[in-house]
Amino acid sequence: MFRIQNYINGEFRAPLSETYIDNYNPATGQVYSLIPDSDAADVELAVLAAKAAFPAWSNTSAEKRGKMLVKIANLIDQNLEKLAKAESIDNGKPISLARTVDIPRASSNLEFFGTAIQHFSSESHYMEGTAINYTLRRPYGIAGCISPWNLPLYLFTWKIAPALAAGNCVIAKPSEITPMTAYLLSELCQEAGLPAGVLNIVHGYGHKVGAAITENPNIPIISFTGGTKTGETIARVAAPMFKKLSLELGGKNPNIIFADCDLEKAIATSINSSFANQGQICLCGSRIFIERSIYEQFKEGFLAKVQDLKNGNPLDEKTKQGAVVSQAHMEKVLSYIQLAKEEGGRILAGGQQVKLDGENATGWFIQPTVIEGLAYNCRTNTEEIFGPVVTLTPFDTEEEVLEYANCTDYGLAATIWTENLTRAHRVAHQIKSGIIWVNCWLLRDLRTPFGGMKQSGVGREGGLEALRFFTEPQNVCVKL
Ligand code: NAD
Repeated sequence: MFRIQNYINGEFRAPLSETYIDNYNPATGQVYSLIPDSDAADVELAVLAAKAAFPAWSNTSAEKRGKMLVKIANLIDQNLEKLAKAESIDNGKPISLARTVDIPRASSNLEFFGTAIQHFSSESHYMEGTAINYTLRRPYGIAGCISPWNLPLYLFTWKIAPALAAGNCVIAKPSEITPMTAYLLSELCQEAGLPAGVLNIVHGYGHKVGAAITENPNIPIISFTGGTKTGETIARVAAPMFKKLSLELGGKNPNIIFADCDLEKAIATSINSSFANQGQICLCGSRIFIERSIYEQFKEGFLAKVQDLKNGNPLDEKTKQGAVVSQAHMEKVLSYIQLAKEEGGRILAGGQQVKLDGENATGWFIQPTVIEGLAYNCRTNTEEIFGPVVTLTPFDTEEEVLEYANCTDYGLAATIWTENLTRAHRVAHQIKSGIIWVNCWLLRDLRTPFGGMKQSGVGREGGLEALRFFTEPQNVCVKL
């Protein structure tokens, strides 16, 4: 069976433990490859390699570093089909989604930061006739980047690209649930001629490799995307060492439909914001709040479109709903559907595991599920489910829906549907979320700050925010 390898010091290596973890194809439920079960000793090798590579990489001009990232982006483009297929098999997502969203965005991330670093500048402050201050922005050294399974290559590159562009060396850990495209990327890095030790990819479990990265005193800066509980563990370990942290965590995002919206567009986009990637996007709007006067109309139109979303083999071009990522995750999502019933929810669509034919009969598929009749502050409506499950809740006033929207511990993203411009601005300002979309969803400009409020995270990624995060300012004051 195919064995993924670690990428350390520019070489492909087996884990020192010589043990492997099973890697499953969610659409068949079968093991199809093996993942290195690495531990702190492998991370230590990566630290040695990154340390040795740092002086040369950090002294390489921004232009040359940027061009190297663009070269890797071009190789991703050339390997689009191979990467999209690998992502679909590893994660269960429809190949059409991997081909049009995940992989192109991975390439954009590298190109974006590869070019952005060439325009990055620091500041100077003139003290009238007395002194001049200039502020240098230096890379930290070795950055740790830890990413989740839902958008594997997309989120992996979203972290490593700014870290590398800024002149850091990187030790990166993809999710052990979806490691394949990070491995394929390491092959492309070698092909591009990325100097040895600049990027090191160590595969394995979070509690081993992730914990070793977090605990290692030679890694002063960590960028993490994943669950809020894991973020808490990382923060607890990193804080006494005063590590710099960026934490992109969970969400429970509201999707607010006012009666004066363009209903057709609101319904079409809400289908996407509810069920894209089987609802496994941290930005999905899983709580749909609808103004009472159009509640029935929205519900009818929305449910009609949900009927068209049939689960299918992710590798089939026509499939719009693939498998959820793992058996454990499927069971978690199904347990929340059960909880919703216990909390008084009515299942309007879906609610069940789906058994497909042939080799997909043993896959992990869940029907797109729509639930109504729940209190806005029940567990189903406040805890992150991270699957193809949404709730519909009517509201009467703006004040009421703001209370609903803000009632969770999360604050990642929100969507507002209204044709009333004043209302759109007024409501946007009162929602405690790091990202607000008005009359759209997942429309991303990579220059904008990306991240959450409250328990959805600390810090922002994207654009200059990311380049500032991965560099440490040093002010030099010169007396004139
Ligand atoms: P997770 O927290 O279980 O794992 C994320 C990564 O952390 C994995 O690589 C994992 O191996 C590693 N990890 C686990 N335990 C660790 C530890 N003790 N120390 C260090 N690393 C450890 O999350 P997941 O299940 O892979 O991803 C789903 C979660 O990610 C959801 O909560 C989702 O909302 C969130 N997410 C957030 C964003 C965002 O931008 N805010 C984006 C995507 C996903």
